[in-house]
Amino acid sequence: MIPFNLPPHTGNEEKFVLEAMNSDKISGDGKFGRMCQAWFEQRIGCAKALLTPSCTQALEMAAILIDTQPGDEVIMPSYTFVSTANAFVLRGAKIVFVDIRPDTMNINEQLIEAAITPKTKAIVPVHYAGVGCEMSVIMDIAERHELFVIEDAAQGMMSSYRGKALGSFGHMATYSFHETKNFTSGGEGGLLLINDERFIHRAEIIREKGTNRCQFFRGAVDKYSWVDLGSSYLPSELQSAYLWGQLELADEITLNRLEAWNLYRDAFADLASKRYIVLPSIPDNCKHNGHMFYLKCKDLDERAKLLTHLKQNNILAVFHYVPLHSAPAGKKFGRFHGEDEYTTYESQRLARLPLWYGIEAAVRQQVIDHVIEFYS
Ligand SMILES: *Cc1c(COP(=O)(O)O)cnc(C)c1O
Repeated sequence: MIPFNLPPHTGNEEKFVLEAMNSDKISGDGKFGRMCQAWFEQRIGCAKALLTPSCTQALEMAAILIDTQPGDEVIMPSYTFVSTANAFVLRGAKIVFVDIRPDTMNINEQLIEAAITPKTKAIVPVHYAGVGCEMSVIMDIAERHELFVIEDAAQGMMSSYRGKALGSFGHMATYSFHETKNFTSGGEGGLLLINDERFIHRAEIIREKGTNRCQFFRGAVDKYSWVDLGSSYLPSELQSAYLWGQLELADEITLNRLEAWNLYRDAFADLASKRYIVLPSIPDNCKHNGHMFYLKCKDLDERAKLLTHLKQNNILAVFHYVPLHSAPAGKKFGRFHGEDEYTTYESQRLARLPLWYGIEAAVRQQVIDHVIEFYS
């Protein structure tokens, strides 16, 4: 069976993980943790980068940092992973879902303003498939209405919008290093990017169980104590060491994925021009990272048949994101603002094809052949 995904692996992870294991500090914020964070701060130009055990937890930290309160409203697309919403629901917020654009599957920036009420606290754009949302428009809306913007850039590392890295636009942003993403810190992991430096001090406290331990280690206070609410949001050094083995090759990994992505696109250009399928579209002002290759079938029924056909030929292709507003918890904790013109329809016809760092040409060709065979 051709898998849908294989975790990225460069071969450098082992030596760094061993080095971390043999050092005398394997808890968070050791040598490798600090090296990774400095890499992101330099590369993205953010004020602070803090590694977390998952993107889910980075989102939870962001929800705490903007002081989300019961009754607040948070605007986001319904076509996203549950963690985008859960982080804010955990703090008592109501989720307001807005329709997506069919071309990128990202939140439709033109529909955000109408969904704002006096209770709105934040906008959470999700950069689907590592393709940037219209951040200029979104940041302008947020500024005029005094709202926070948290970018869910779980899939967006190494992508850019108007020449700037995804994750560098909002007050804060999050990356994921889960094994299904372009980079992994050993299966699970995440990052909180802070662009608005007002949040740095409190973020360090929340991440250290609500203590000022971080200042203590820097020698800024002579003992540390419980100063705010918090939790345990530090990954172990083993996770950071694993990630370091991939950051060194970040450009190579991205180029490799993009090459596979472009070959898929070229191979299916004919099917798309005959209008059997729709291919992903990348806006001119975006550079993506080859995170995901999807195609859109005619409808739900045709997608089911395509996925079955691929499975019968030992290829695992998948779909995802049953829109959150139609899920039981989504109905309870959120509401859809405006018309669901594209969210449900487009999500029901999207199929994701196998793609990973180092995918072999023969494997890719098998996938291409069986998709073309299905449509002929
Ligand atoms: C993967 C993903 C997450 C969650 O990431 P974890 O690191 O698994 O917690 C959140 N949002 C989006 C859009 C994702 O794709």
